[in-house]
Amino acid sequence: MSNELQSSVQYIKSVGPKRAESFKEIGISSIRDLLFYFPTRYLDRRTIINSVKATKYLLDGYEGEVTILGKVVDSETIRYGKKQLFKVSMKDAAGFYECVWFQGVKFFKDKFKPGEQYAISAKPVITKYGNLQFAHPDFDKLDSEESREFLNTGKIIPFYRLPKELKAKNIGELSLRKIISYAVNQYAQFLTETLPDKIVNEQELLNITEAVKTMHSPPNHDALLLAKNRFIFEELFFIECLVALRKHSFKNNIIGIPFKVSANPIKQFLSNLPFELTRSQLKVLSEIRTDMESGKPMSRMLQGDVGSGKTVVAIIAMIIAAENGCQAALMAPTEILANQHFNNITNLLNESGLKVNLLIGGQKKSEKAKNLNEIKLKESDIIVGTHALFEDTVDFNKLGLVIIDEQHRFGVEQRFRLMKKGTSPDVLVMTATPIPRTLSMTVYGDLDLSIIDEMPKNRLPINTTLRSEGNLPDIYQFIKDKIKDGYQSFVVYPLVEESAKLELKAAEEYFEKLKNTFFSDINVGLIHGRMKWKEKEEVMLKFAAKEFDVLISTTVIEVGIDIPDANIIVINDAFRFGLSQLHQLRGRVGRSDKQAYCILISNKPVKKQKGLFENNFEYMSKAQIEKYKSQIRMQAMAEYSSGFDLAEIDLKLRGPGDIFGTKQSGMPELKYADLARDSEILIEAKKCAFGIIEKDVKLNSSANQLIKEQLKKYYTEQLKYSFIG
Ligand code: ADP
Ligand code: MG
Repeated sequence: MSNELQSSVQYIKSVGPKRAESFKEIGISSIRDLLFYFPTRYLDRRTIINSVKATKYLLDGYEGEVTILGKVVDSETIRYGKKQLFKVSMKDAAGFYECVWFQGVKFFKDKFKPGEQYAISAKPVITKYGNLQFAHPDFDKLDSEESREFLNTGKIIPFYRLPKELKAKNIGELSLRKIISYAVNQYAQFLTETLPDKIVNEQELLNITEAVKTMHSPPNHDALLLAKNRFIFEELFFIECLVALRKHSFKNNIIGIPFKVSANPIKQFLSNLPFELTRSQLKVLSEIRTDMESGKPMSRMLQGDVGSGKTVVAIIAMIIAAENGCQAALMAPTEILANQHFNNITNLLNESGLKVNLLIGGQKKSEKAKNLNEIKLKESDIIVGTHALFEDTVDFNKLGLVIIDEQHRFGVEQRFRLMKKGTSPDVLVMTATPIPRTLSMTVYGDLDLSIIDEMPKNRLPINTTLRSEGNLPDIYQFIKDKIKDGYQSFVVYPLVEESAKLELKAAEEYFEKLKNTFFSDINVGLIHGRMKWKEKEEVMLKFAAKEFDVLISTTVIEVGIDIPDANIIVINDAFRFGLSQLHQLRGRVGRSDKQAYCILISNKPVKKQKGLFENNFEYMSKAQIEKYKSQIRMQAMAEYSSGFDLAEIDLKLRGPGDIFGTKQSGMPELKYADLARDSEILIEAKKCAFGIIEKDVKLNSSANQLIKEQLKKYYTEQLKYSFIG
């Protein structure tokens, strides 16, 4: 990079040392940093029209957005019934118009003082009184110099985020725009390409200088799109390089265990099951089998919606490993789930002669020591546990297969730690959280994918409804009425997270209250996160044995738990939960041939908002999505049963930066790309990156030096999981 770009922003006209400090606080030290401070949005001066023209357009049937520039005349809050709206009357040189807000009245009240100038953008309507009206428009306050600029330059004007650190140094919208514009004009020419020229040409991308210039002052929308696409492509390209590197780092060169599969033990196991495997289960089994037989280590993700029957598939894989004289480990995210798997597998493998051990954090010292010893001496064949499995004290003896259940609860880091306990063991990660295609190409791109896309035959769709707290007495009655049909129920109680003590108290109070009122004549159990695992185990076993009709619980039951007769789940304060969490909770029921019910309770109004969700969800603005998030989630739950659909909606609800959920994914945060929007670019970037890495895994060729350099510079953390790291 040339020196000019590395110099401090203080040398930019009208910055200076003091302001440079504020820039530094928001992460902009060098001139290069400033060049990459892109506008968050743009105002298209070319669509600015006056109010008379706007009215005429509307009468001619125009339905798009327009921008109008004018002054505030006055504003008022109007009450109608219980509601209120906020109305601002405005005028421009041609005439009058109005802006109205039905929500957030408090927030808008203090803005829009008479005489202030605003640019207003929205789809206008003509009211029944003949007024030109903008409902919930985008707006920008302008000073007089700015409005002159708007009116006189026929350009698309950039808007930059203006952090308080800059405001504090008297930098306003306009001056920031000027500072950046100066920097771009003087310095963008010195930017050096960060992508190999070959890629820039092949992909028909704007070169870096062009792209940066265009981001700050796009001549038109098409050019802007091209510039944005360049940065999106670049970001996704480097991510796909990481994915490809990760994939190759344990596929190539490493020799895995070629397992031999003999039919008898598997047949015997299957004959003990009370059901036949679905076609989907058989299909994924044969994929897993092929992997296990091959000399390369398996790294496969098994994806199947909640209740699709992943566990039996895992057990069969473990039987194969054990029959080959290897140990197999199954890691679950919670002690309850590990314990359930342990009991389940012990029962199913009763006649097989294989030994199953449990290893979790809460075990007694002596018990743990005994388990550790048996693992070390290879008395145990199958080891089920929590993250306790990859502690240093655990000394596996020929660990040949690692299975991770509910893998979204674990990070890549943990997957690698458990893998390191063996010498290139086969790895199978299982998840009920369906991974949208774009994510399976990125975060999980190093894994081959097997999908169970079919539920066991006997299942009915879960009946999901939204109710308010006022309905609870009826719901409790419903729960009691259903007991005679053999139904058990989960009641998930509102979360209290402030402190362990408070949570405990809340859980117990809630339990006591129900036991003394609605549920005084039935058996009720309680389970929560503050219990020791033995206590939890006891409660779960009792519930499975039908000693309770109702289990009051926190979200400790969220993942994996399988109680076939529990067919009603009531989720209190449902709006607090994320979509995937709600889907997981709902997945606790509907695991048999009986009709199951999921009842979401919310104290917010759950009345269906017409048009909010059904068709035009995709066209809602970010602000609207933010505002109605919990509502959309609840409605989505009621309308969709497939985890895959819900995951796609979830992806749209979360901001692009938040896509990978947590830092756990071992993937960088996205700055430019939005996986929900940019799947086509992603596919291109992937092709391109994989093509390069497949030919040159270590990025040694001279043509690939730039790529290596960039990766090392910006993705050090992520390179840990690959060769060049
Ligand atoms: P998940 O995929 O959510 O982990 P589980 O493996 O816990 O699901 O299976 C859910 C329930 O379905 C269990 O009670 C399991 O015994 C049962 N099950 C699994 N496969 C089948 C099948 N092919 N037919 C009927 N029931 C099945
Ligand atoms: Mg499961």
